[in-house]
Parts: sequence; structure tokens; C-alpha cells
Amino acid sequence: MNSIKKQLAILGSTGSIGTQTLDIVRTHPDRFGVYALCARTSVEKLIAQAREFRPVVVCIADESLYAPLREALQDLSIDVRAGDDAIAEMVTAAPIDVVVAAMVGYAGLRPMMAALQAGKSIALANKETLVVAGELIRRLATEHGADILPVDSEHSAIFQSLVGEEGNEIEKILLTCSGGPFRTWPIDRIARATAEDALRHPNWHMGDKITIDSASYMNKGFEVIEAKWLFGVDVERIQVLVHPQSIIHSAVQFRDGAIKAQLGAPDMRLPILYALTYPERIATDLPRADLFRVRDLTFEEPDTTRFPCLALAYQAAARGGNVPCIMNAANEVANLAFRQGKIPFLRMAEIIEETMARATFIPNPTYEDYVASDAEARHIAGTICKFVNL
Ligand code: MG
Repeated sequence: MNSIKKQLAILGSTGSIGTQTLDIVRTHPDRFGVYALCARTSVEKLIAQAREFRPVVVCIADESLYAPLREALQDLSIDVRAGDDAIAEMVTAAPIDVVVAAMVGYAGLRPMMAALQAGKSIALANKETLVVAGELIRRLATEHGADILPVDSEHSAIFQSLVGEEGNEIEKILLTCSGGPFRTWPIDRIARATAEDALRHPNWHMGDKITIDSASYMNKGFEVIEAKWLFGVDVERIQVLVHPQSIIHSAVQFRDGAIKAQLGAPDMRLPILYALTYPERIATDLPRADLFRVRDLTFEEPDTTRFPCLALAYQAAARGGNVPCIMNAANEVANLAFRQGKIPFLRMAEIIEETMARATFIPNPTYEDYVASDAEARHIAGTICKFVNL
């Protein structure tokens, strides 16, 4: 097994998870090969990555960037493609062993479905796809015998805690949360927070969209729904614990009362690597958590008055159907509007709540229903934000 290189297709290769995945490939060239790289708009970074890793295929989602990409790589024998259709087709190529799904937001849904239908293993960082269409994704994975291996640090911790526990019922999932940059801020200060304040995350270095979601706890709400679909546990049995040290990455409580957790330094490369090598653990020089230096591991209940997005996610999961899809679309609009300085921080939760109340409810959505719900919710949220055509 050690002599066979796993061939990766990395979607979102220029983002935070994508570049850290390539760090791992660089460190373990005997283990992993890069078959395909894909980015949405970061064409310069994609060109540099293609020149370094020499994939078979490179794809840019934004079709207007096809010409400069092709020109820059014309001296290499790399198949250059563009557009969403090309991405969905690319992930089904026979030599690909694992699709690293690290693109941001709803855009990940279609390629994820195509990869599952082709029976590919997915290393999943794009939690929005499970939030939007968890039931559909689960069904496709089962039908096509495709594995979904979590990259999200919390879900990786839960997954690691469940190794060897097949058949043992989960009583409760303990989902930890750093608390983000506003954990100790009073609500009137949060109301005045800027995008710059929100982008100063205390423990994790991530992309801009997810860092804002972390500050608002929308990210934690998404993770509750992600855990529901990954591990088949109702959200009433998923408890969020604010744990500011980010050393315990999450835990599982079993029916005998035992709790198993996974601990480590907050470094995304560990969960990425585990998703790529599972069930094997390979030697690394990644940072170690020094528990003598950490000393205290503390826990608080999340405050849904200051961080209402977490409560909205529980509501969306309880209502089911297309409501999580509506919530996600409204959040993508609100998150961007906040980053652009167009709305204040707490307005994001209001926009999401109002969109969830106004958009058409569909109890058993098909893929086409999700596409329509996403568009309707974006329109409603955009109108509330006072700008349309997002
Ligand atoms: Mg996480």
C-alpha cells in the first residue's frame, strides 16, 4: 500500500485548505500525486501551483480567465479547462483516488455530486455542501459506495474518536468551538465590530469567508448540521462547547458514559493528512500540543443572545427540507455584504432569519429545488441588504 501514490484532485487549490493540502503533498511526495487542480478566480496562484506540481488537468471556474491560464501553461503538457461543467466532469477521471473538496460555499455542491456518482472518496472541507443538501449527499454516497472523510478539525476529531466503535451507539457529540474573536465582547461592542476585527481569529488561520462565519458562530451552526449528516446523529444530541484553547478538537460520548476526544495543536494540516491517509497514521513534523504550556482547558456554554446564528442553525435543522439551504444562501449574501462594509455585524443574523421566514418552504427538495431555493434566498437576502444581483 505504501508504494502506491494516491492521486488527488484538489478543488479550491489556491485557498487556505488547498494550499495546506499542497504543503502535505510537498512534504510527502512518495505518498501523494496531484492529478487535478482547480480554483475559482485566483489564476496567478493556480499557474504557479500548476508549474510546481505538474498536474494532468488544471481548471478555472471563472471562464473569463481561461485564455490567460492556457497561455501561461502552453509550454507544459497540461490539459487546461474552464467552467463549472468542466469541473464536474474533471472530478470523475479514472485515475483520481481522492477529491479534496475545499472550494467555498454552495459552488461545491455540483462537483461534489459528480465525484460521489463516480464513487470517488471525498476529503470534505466544504461544509456548505452538507448544510445545503445533506440528505442528497448522504444518499449518493451510500448508493455509489463513496467515502466522505471529514477535513473540518471538529469532524475529524469526532471521526477519530469513532475509530473502532462500529456498532456502538453515540449518546452525544461534544462539538468544540474556539469562541472566535468576539467571545468576551459585550453585545454593544459586537454591534460596532468591523470586518477587520472579525478577521482577527485568535487560534486558526483560515479564509476570509469562514473567519467571518466563525466570528458570528454561523460556522459552528453549519458544523452542527455537518455532524448530523456525517455521523447520523440528530442535532438535539449535538452539544456545542466553547473551548477557547482549541486543543480538544471535539469528542464523542457513548452510552456507557465514556467520552473519547481527539486533542492536538490547532493546525489544519493534521486533519487534512488524516483524511488522506486514514486508517493509517504517518510520521510528521507538524507542531505538537504541549499540555504543560497549555495548562488549562476550559469550557463555556455558547451565548445565543450575542451569537444568534447558532440558534438559527438549530432551527433550520429542526425545520429540515430546504431551510438549511435557504440559511446558507442568505449567509453567503450577508457575509459578503459585511466584508464589504455594507452592513453591520449583527445585521447578518437578522438577514438570515428574515430570509428563512420569507423563502418558500420545500419539505423534500430535489437537486433542482435546491438550485431554485438557493437563487430565491439570495434574491431575498440581497433585497434586504439593499443590493441585488449578487
Ligand atoms: Mg471547524
